[in-house]
Amino acid sequence: MVRRSKQSDTEALRKNLIELFKDFENKLLDGDLRGKVLALIPAHHLIRDLGSSLVTKEEAASAQDRIILYLRTYPKQFVSGDELMVISGIGEWARRVRELRVELGWNIVSGVTAKEMIEQGDLILAQEKIRVNDYVLLDEKQDREAAFRWKCANTIRKKKSGVKEKLLDFLKLNVGHPVRGEELRYVANGKSEWARRLRELRTEEGWAVATRTSGRPDLDIGTYVLENLDQAPAHDRKIPDEVRGAVLMRDRHTCTVCGWHHANWNSSDPRHLELHHTVHHSKGGANSESNLVTLCTVCHRSAHSQK
Ligand SMILES: [Zn+2]
Ligand SMILES: [Zn+2]
Repeated sequence: MVRRSKQSDTEALRKNLIELFKDFENKLLDGDLRGKVLALIPAHHLIRDLGSSLVTKEEAASAQDRIILYLRTYPKQFVSGDELMVISGIGEWARRVRELRVELGWNIVSGVTAKEMIEQGDLILAQEKIRVNDYVLLDEKQDREAAFRWKCANTIRKKKSGVKEKLLDFLKLNVGHPVRGEELRYVANGKSEWARRLRELRTEEGWAVATRTSGRPDLDIGTYVLENLDQAPAHDRKIPDEVRGAVLMRDRHTCTVCGWHHANWNSSDPRHLELHHTVHHSKGGANSESNLVTLCTVCHRSAHSQK
């Protein structure tokens, strides 16, 4: 059993540790192997206690509480798994991280997932070097629906279909509601291609998958939303992201016909914003800022039917 020391004892723990290491000197000189190993065990416990004593019981009562307290103290910054090991004071800290994410709905992303999101331009973070064993808390909001989504994700990932189909299935189940990168990666059975496939769903197949960096600045960092179940017409699919972003910015993220904005979104009228070619693509209209206007899905449909 791991003995849990009183939080106020940090200094006492430190002194105990020094004493233990002094004694260890004798073991090193004449002890047998087992004697040396046994002598180190209390030191291991003490180091764990020392780490967990760095925050008070009032601030965080359990190992899990200490982990989330630590991540919330440094949001949007990568911290290493080793740091979480120290502050939690337990060997099974990774399991607690998973529970925080899956059961309690914190948006904790691993270094691997973050890298894949950054590569596809879906996530922008001010950090140069990201290691696989890093973790980052992307926002301070707990999402109470996360546990339900993880259950859905678990069902879908077992299907026999390909990565892209699984991702689309999961997004369709959550249409209109943001999902998180770590969930999508899980749906894709942890295959690193997930972020690229997701991009293809949008750019090649015309699914309205939006992120904060692709025209929905209102979305939380590192989340994805399938805005509705309609695929965009083929002629609108190949607009470069820079152009898309510039047009949306120019039109202030509102429909240039009716003034619809994402703040007006509701589930009984699930619109989203699309870009429309003033001179139609089929008539040689370019994917340029000057030839594109922002329309809501309703106005976009009527623009095409009037033609
Ligand atoms: Zn409109
Ligand atoms: Zn159009």
